[in-house]
Amino acid sequence: MNREPIIPHNFQQTFEARIEALGRISEAEDNLVRPSFTPAMRQVNTLVGEWMRAAGMTVREDNIGNLIGRYESSMPNAKTLVIGSHLDTVKDAGRYDGTLGVLLGLACVEALAREGRRLPFAIEVIAFSDEEGLRFHLPYLGSKTIAGVLSAEDLQRRDENGISIRDAVREYGGNPDLISADRKVSDDLIGYLEVHIEQGPLLESLGLPIGIVTAIAGMNRVQITFKGEAGHAGTVPMHLRRDTLVAAAKFIAAVEQVGLMTEGLVATVGQIEALPGASNAIPGKVTISLDVRHQDDTTRLNAVDALYREAQQIGQHSRVDVAWEQIAESMSIPCSPQLIEMLSQAAEDEKITPYFLSSGAGHDAVQMSRLAPSAMIFVRCRGGISHNPAEYASSIDAEAALKVLIRAVTGYEQGV
Ligand SMILES: [Zn+2]
Repeated sequence: MNREPIIPHNFQQTFEARIEALGRISEAEDNLVRPSFTPAMRQVNTLVGEWMRAAGMTVREDNIGNLIGRYESSMPNAKTLVIGSHLDTVKDAGRYDGTLGVLLGLACVEALAREGRRLPFAIEVIAFSDEEGLRFHLPYLGSKTIAGVLSAEDLQRRDENGISIRDAVREYGGNPDLISADRKVSDDLIGYLEVHIEQGPLLESLGLPIGIVTAIAGMNRVQITFKGEAGHAGTVPMHLRRDTLVAAAKFIAAVEQVGLMTEGLVATVGQIEALPGASNAIPGKVTISLDVRHQDDTTRLNAVDALYREAQQIGQHSRVDVAWEQIAESMSIPCSPQLIEMLSQAAEDEKITPYFLSSGAGHDAVQMSRLAPSAMIFVRCRGGISHNPAEYASSIDAEAALKVLIRAVTGYEQGV
């Protein structure tokens, strides 16, 4: 068991003040939005950079605008543990998504620095420059750069004003031609840890302050088109119809059933378009989206197969053609079993029941896991609400996460 972390008694106050200060820095006047390579990003990176420096870290920004604070090791040529999350936001965002993880990484170093404690490895706290993908519709710009997988083609992506990532980087002060040099090498890293708000209601429903992430769920995104025959709502008798909206509705009900029957699966139809879309017309064509996620790839693929067969059957029964087009697929990213064990022990030492859950949303850990064993701590958020100004995580829960984080980080000492 590691010795108890010494957290300053004013941590909660400092945390709240910082959340407040960063939450005020926005590109919009009346709500929070911080796209990458904007004055708002410059401002938050400057402010967090000052806090990092005050904690005894050396601070720099790489070419993609990742803010990197480094707390040196007691040993020469030591490897590095990265603790990170992001400071960019979606539109009309909450103040905790991403920011909480950066602040807790910083607070972890502050706690070590206060005791004058150095570890046999360096710690880098990274505030990734663009995780949400708001501006260029391409997520993970920062962590992809560190992982060395941001391509030259990616840099050609343009925002809605026609500005490419390449130009935005240059404008911000980075050199787009040197981005590939900002990658980190696996051999230099011992691990990656990220604390993030849960963005779901599970921890709250269980009365737990934190949870330990076992995997970031894999996902299928499918577009399904039902083609039948449009007709007059008043003249075509029921038994002669080829009504695509009825077929789609049956399928949507089946999606819910498969979701409910499969432990841990989430399956969602979030978009629907019915044509011709008139109150007096039988819908001749319906297009819907399908999003299926699970932390186990086989379970997810079995569910997708079952839904595919269901769609075909419904189509046959309703005399409607069904076109199934996969739009995107990502595999599940398991977290490191060793790190999960370490976090679990750290939680127990803090008298918190370790609770394991998967992440249905993507995080920078997806990219960082290419480089190093990675793990995440989720922090309970009120009502499970995120990407919304009502987003809230208490400083009490943040402190619980911090204590677990510090125990895990100092626990590495024995493992290095
Ligand atoms: Zn986030």
